[in-house]
Amino acid sequence: MRKKIVAGNWKMNMELNDGISLARTINNFFLDHHLKDKEVILCTPFIHLSDVSRLLSAKGLTAGAQNCSDHKSGAFTGETSAAMIRSTGAGSVIIGHSERRTFYGEVDTLLAAKTLEALRNGLQVIFCCGEVLAEREQQIHFKVVKRQLEKGIFNLPVEEFRKCVIAYEPVWAIGTGVTATPAQAQEMHRYIRDIVTEQYGKDVADDTTILYGGSCKASNAAELFANPDVDGGLIGGASLASEEFCNIVNAL
Ligand code: PGA
Repeated sequence: MRKKIVAGNWKMNMELNDGISLARTINNFFLDHHLKDKEVILCTPFIHLSDVSRLLSAKGLTAGAQNCSDHKSGAFTGETSAAMIRSTGAGSVIIGHSERRTFYGEVDTLLAAKTLEALRNGLQVIFCCGEVLAEREQQIHFKVVKRQLEKGIFNLPVEEFRKCVIAYEPVWAIGTGVTATPAQAQEMHRYIRDIVTEQYGKDVADDTTILYGGSCKASNAAELFANPDVDGGLIGGASLASEEFCNIVNAL
């Protein structure tokens, strides 16, 4: 069964106490309004992870990280390993976000290594892909997304691939207020499911969760999530306000 997921990507926002109080408010909401078969993941900065993991008690609500090292441990100043993330109780990690690719030069091979480390340590990987505006204008967006997935996760053995969630995030929609239309999202999600089918077969593709991300908010979430191949969202800006975020979850 394909999982339905809403993940909040807090990015580099929230000082510790503000983050804890946001997570507590969201937790209280989902203690009252059961998630049933949905999953909600709060991807916080590393600083918050341990406190947030510990305080989340609503069923289906867990914490995740936004990045991890490609190394196991050792002399890598400033890095955080997948094992450390797991040790906080967090269950997931975002890998390959366009901001990591663009601002920190994270290339396909590095992202593949990070993915392996995360999976080795029992984390669910939320693997991001998506084209920039110029690539869409040149009509090469399908090719770009295919390459990102091939290099990042399509070489995994099937049982490892099954622990990955794919997040399609057109870069031109991230933080811009410009959302992909429901038709644009569905078209790419369908394409992604087709190439997963080619790689791993129909059963695996049917079970693969594909999230949409990029200016998704409470007012447009329902129409995006109504598409047959959109299984939830990766939410940036709109995940920083509890009511807005919970409304997005309710739209799923
Ligand atoms: P946004 O970010 O919702 O603020 O556009 C999404 C993301 O980067 O994951």
